[in-house]
Amino acid sequence: MTEKLLIAGNWKMHKTPRQTVEYFEQFKPLVKGLESVEILICPPFIDIPAAVESVKGSPIKIGGQNCFYEKEGAFTGEISPVMLREAGCEYVILGHSERRHIFGESDEVINKKVVAALEEGLRVILCVGETLQERESGLTFTVIETQLKLGLSGVEDKLDKVDIAYEPVWAIGTGVAAKPEDAEEVHRFIYDKLRELNPQKAEKVRVLYGGSVKPSNAESLLSQPHIRGVLVGGASLKPDSFAQIAKIGDTLATSKG
Ligand code: PEP
Repeated sequence: MTEKLLIAGNWKMHKTPRQTVEYFEQFKPLVKGLESVEILICPPFIDIPAAVESVKGSPIKIGGQNCFYEKEGAFTGEISPVMLREAGCEYVILGHSERRHIFGESDEVINKKVVAALEEGLRVILCVGETLQERESGLTFTVIETQLKLGLSGVEDKLDKVDIAYEPVWAIGTGVAAKPEDAEEVHRFIYDKLRELNPQKAEKVRVLYGGSVKPSNAESLLSQPHIRGVLVGGASLKPDSFAQIAKIGDTLATSKG
């Protein structure tokens, strides 16, 4: 394993700028000195300046939860990749299941966003995952393959700037995480598909697991060979629980060498 494990937090629509500053005051000392994980937090857009200011001088990175695919223009309510970059973001999450299922984003739209974000020099975390109905109909692997291929169309040569988050929709925010061995099976499949897209760069991609990750299940998930990080929603909102997950990742990564 060449890259550090990625421990990413998605705050969704939680916290104000003031609460963001308070969070980092508590969080930073808790994760000081962890060297085998990369820690990323993706707050709401309005909190990004406070977050970037708060993490100055620390290795913690800040990212966006979404962006549009145009640089600027008459797109009320949207934020462009160049805006995220200039605000100090290094990453952007794209294709999160809430964007797909609540806001109706198609694979084609997500792909345009992936292309635009990479062009701007942001690293992309592309989320993929099946619904419960799709899983029960035996469609998990078909869905994941389609989301990967369409989402990454035209950027296969930039896989070293991409991470994938496997987030089964039925596990997000439900408290019921995938069984580690079931997640591992999908992660292995994702790496097979990434190798088909770009055999040289597939191993550079960190495939993260997301969906009800918490301190109590982080070790069993992160110790799977093809799970190279986690994307954490609810448990990233509390500095101590997110720090515990980061420490678990750091200990595992250190012992794996
Ligand atoms: C997420 O928002 O990406 C997520 C995985 O949420 P939770 O950890 O709360 O299930």
